[in-house]
Amino acid sequence: MPSSSAPPVPTGQLLIDGEFRPGSGGATFDVQNPARRTVLSHAALGTVDDARAAVDAARGAFPKWSGLPAPERGEILARAARLVLDHVEELAQIVTLEEGKALPEARGEVRQAYATIAFYAGEGRRLVSQVVPSDSPDKLTFSMRKPLGVAAIITPWNFPSMIPMWNLCPALISGNAVVLKPASYTPLTAFRLVQLFHEAGIPRGVLNFVTGPGGKIGDALAQNPDVNVLAFTGETLTGRHLAEINGRLFRRQVLELGGKNPLIVAADAPLDAAVPSALWSAFSNAGQKCTAASRIIVERPILERFTAAFVAAAGKLRVGDGLVPGTEVGPLVDAAGVEKVERYVRYGLDEGAELLLGGHRLTEGDLAQGNFHEVTIFRGSNGLRICQDEIFGPVTTIVPADSLDEAVDLANDVRYGLAAAVYTKDVRSALRAVQRMEAAVTFVNHGPVGVEVQAPFGGTKQSGFGRELGEAGIEDYTEKKTVYIDYSYAKQPWYYPWA
Ligand code: NAD
Repeated sequence: MPSSSAPPVPTGQLLIDGEFRPGSGGATFDVQNPARRTVLSHAALGTVDDARAAVDAARGAFPKWSGLPAPERGEILARAARLVLDHVEELAQIVTLEEGKALPEARGEVRQAYATIAFYAGEGRRLVSQVVPSDSPDKLTFSMRKPLGVAAIITPWNFPSMIPMWNLCPALISGNAVVLKPASYTPLTAFRLVQLFHEAGIPRGVLNFVTGPGGKIGDALAQNPDVNVLAFTGETLTGRHLAEINGRLFRRQVLELGGKNPLIVAADAPLDAAVPSALWSAFSNAGQKCTAASRIIVERPILERFTAAFVAAAGKLRVGDGLVPGTEVGPLVDAAGVEKVERYVRYGLDEGAELLLGGHRLTEGDLAQGNFHEVTIFRGSNGLRICQDEIFGPVTTIVPADSLDEAVDLANDVRYGLAAAVYTKDVRSALRAVQRMEAAVTFVNHGPVGVEVQAPFGGTKQSGFGRELGEAGIEDYTEKKTVYIDYSYAKQPWYYPWA
């Protein structure tokens, strides 16, 4: 059985002010394996008092941490990166066990978490500020970056190693102290990462870790006025709720929310490349990706050929326990996820979409024990609910388009704006589509997944705002302080320099 080769799974604790400890109420909650619906381990059930103590610890640690030269902070991150690299296999197995994705995919995710830490470790020797020309002679004008203070970081379950690192690392390297709260489905990966940061020498109170229900622990962090920046990745509705709190508190925020991402297949698209890419984009992580290609918009001249090839290839994808070699599509994270997919399959059928593949939960053999659903493909129009709402499951819809221009119009006809892709051999069509697509991350001849840590990532429209990754990731955790230095020693005249 796959579980026999799995590593021991940790029991999650909190980290507050440098001490690993249980929740102050002493309670724990179960962490399940979605492929088997068995209890894997437990995590500490944090309390509102714990959330407050974590923010207090971060506030106390902030002056010293922000005063440390950034290259020294970078050295600590570099050690953490090394430790994560040494533990890729262990971390990947924990990801698969608590989240479900196939093990090779989990390894890729953890390697990206490593790359993120390594990138921001290097930023410790850059953190570039800007000198601007002055209107007056003998005057030096520049802006320098200042950390904001305490960053509360609330993350989802679908990339349990990567997304915490996307936020934690820019926050830390720019001098903020952090409280991290991961999703309750996947607290163990984040806990192991926090242990590795601790081992790397992160000073007491700089990194705090709390686990427990979002509506309670996440809310306690959000309501705490001592939090200076709130970074949230999760559903658009939760993001809207948090944005209201942030607005009330005049607080900086990063919101990375849902997506309903189009992959356009133009009439001249190279089918051999477009089909496998569409498969990976739509169905990896069982479609539970904010960037999943959940709408595939295909120009009519290639519609039948693309559809036949795509459906045939999707029908061969192996669904199963992510630890079993050869598995390509794992389970959904919970039973409610399967029920949501079933609900949307019904909406699709009721609204007249054509079901081309799948459409049912999987209950045969070992699959009956887990949260499995067939890989599902519809064909229908863009106005259907299956094309407008984020299903977060292994479901995609092929939407026919009469022209590339119409394909882009359809791509934009949705409330989200995270990622978008176009397959075409024509440079002019590709660049025109890129210009027009209302998405913050765009791809040409590549599915809308697989971002690189050195480039900005984020959303527009209801997919959120703020940018993670790259140098842009630093922006959200710093503010610019402008400095004017007049070294003329001249008497200040009664004028404005531009008068
Ligand atoms: P979610 O909104 O249910 O939860 C996200 C986090 O917020 C969890 O840690 C949860 O405990 C916490 N939370 C829940 N309610 C809260 C509240 N009232 N106050 C404070 N915190 C609260 O989302 P999820 O189901 O974990 O993740 C899936 C969603 O995340 C999808 O919509 C997906 O598109 C989105 N996502 C977006 C990105 C991106 O970069 N744009 C990346 C990954 C996932």
